[in-house]
Amino acid sequence: VIDIKHIRQNPGLYSQNCVDRNYKAQSRAPWRIIELFDQWHALQRSARSLRERNNALRRRLANAASRSGDAEGDIQPTMDKTAMLSEAKMLKTELNIIEERETALEDEMEKLAQDLPNLSSTYTPVGDVPQVVGYINEHPEPHPDSSDRIWRSHVHIGSELGLLDFAGAASTSGWGWYYLLNEGAMLEQALVQYALSVARERGWMIVSPPSIVYSHIAAACGFQPRDQNGEQQIYTLEQAEKDKAKPSLALAGTAEIPLAGMKANQIIEDVELPLKTVGVSRCYRAEAGARGVDTKGLYRVHEFTKVEMFAWTLPDHSDDGGFATSSGHNSQNLFEEMLSIQTEILQSLGLHCRILEMPTTDLGASATRKRDIEAYFPSRYEKDEGWGEVTSTSACTDYQSRRLHTRVRLEKAGRVLEFPYTLNGTALAVPRVLAAVLENHWNEDDLSVTVPQVLRPWMGGMEKIQRK
Ligand code: AMP
Repeated sequence: VIDIKHIRQNPGLYSQNCVDRNYKAQSRAPWRIIELFDQWHALQRSARSLRERNNALRRRLANAASRSGDAEGDIQPTMDKTAMLSEAKMLKTELNIIEERETALEDEMEKLAQDLPNLSSTYTPVGDVPQVVGYINEHPEPHPDSSDRIWRSHVHIGSELGLLDFAGAASTSGWGWYYLLNEGAMLEQALVQYALSVARERGWMIVSPPSIVYSHIAAACGFQPRDQNGEQQIYTLEQAEKDKAKPSLALAGTAEIPLAGMKANQIIEDVELPLKTVGVSRCYRAEAGARGVDTKGLYRVHEFTKVEMFAWTLPDHSDDGGFATSSGHNSQNLFEEMLSIQTEILQSLGLHCRILEMPTTDLGASATRKRDIEAYFPSRYEKDEGWGEVTSTSACTDYQSRRLHTRVRLEKAGRVLEFPYTLNGTALAVPRVLAAVLENHWNEDDLSVTVPQVLRPWMGGMEKIQRK
């Protein structure tokens, strides 16, 4: 399913791409694929000549049989015929061995190719420094210490107002889990409903996906149980002894996986594209490598609710992966649409944000290009001057559809089947946005939190969350 020819023709490009994206262990793979291909090609030649010899032998045997007036199977073995039959048997054995070796080489090439990350777009900065490309609600608040305002962390505010409980969750599930209480739990529902309503207004189809997925579907989307640094990424489920032979299962880290998987091994008609879905799901993250300030409060948790957009578009084979304004309007349009939905949501929630073009080391396996939006969290000032990621939008070209074997039938191009392009983007990830709302809309005078206008319809019209 992977375009191995393109890898063989551009080994340097793929190898450098691995280095740029911090997939160093894979950087030798393109050269290894070439070695394996050469071996495979040599085997193909041997197999061809064996088949030719086999066919010639069969013809000679058939001639001999017709000369003796017998069917082939009834030949009275003369020395010559016996030798021919035993050679035919030997050829068949040799051919079987070669074919087995060919399959093993094909599998090895495919596995190496599958594990390569997608090629990065020309818009992506090489390295690990993102490029700031814009702001939402412009200037962030000044440094908490030099400001007249007193800032509080969402943990402090949420505990005072009776919205969060971490200690209780620590007894139930461990650190990294939490209970949302009272208006905290209502805020979660309001944020989800609001994000869904914005996406629905723009024609996105609402989907409620499963939370448990096959591990191979997660892997096809670019999620391995461990990331390239060896950190555990997703939770896998222990199989009962009787189910050991069945494919293994994992908890989805994001609705992107079940949404993408919805079209695995299927053909989409081109008139259905772009196909835009928005799913709301619980997300499960092992976050094994997380340390420090991020592990306090709601910023980095093991389970959370997220509204996620996922779309399929027509493929575009231009050199830039479909981003030049002249050619790849499909992927480009969807990418822009996702960003504008995120902007609308974050702007109306009154959060200060900045938009980043993400660098190569941040792209993960599947994206060719990624834009994140960071919001300002006063409580995080010491870490990243307050900036913390709240959304992420990725264009994945045909990386996922190849691995999931999703195809589109191009009616006008003679009904050929091609791999559609996929994109995914956060519409709203609850815990960080909830934390940012608490921190940015906290009122020092009466210790309340002002509910953003757009959420009030789902909060019974509540304007402020106040101390009980
Ligand atoms: P991702 O699906 O990893 O691209 O993340 C999408 C969004 O989910 C991020 O921008 C965050 O807002 C949120 N998110 C990701 N991981 C976590 C986590 N461990 N805890 C809370 N929110 C998270």
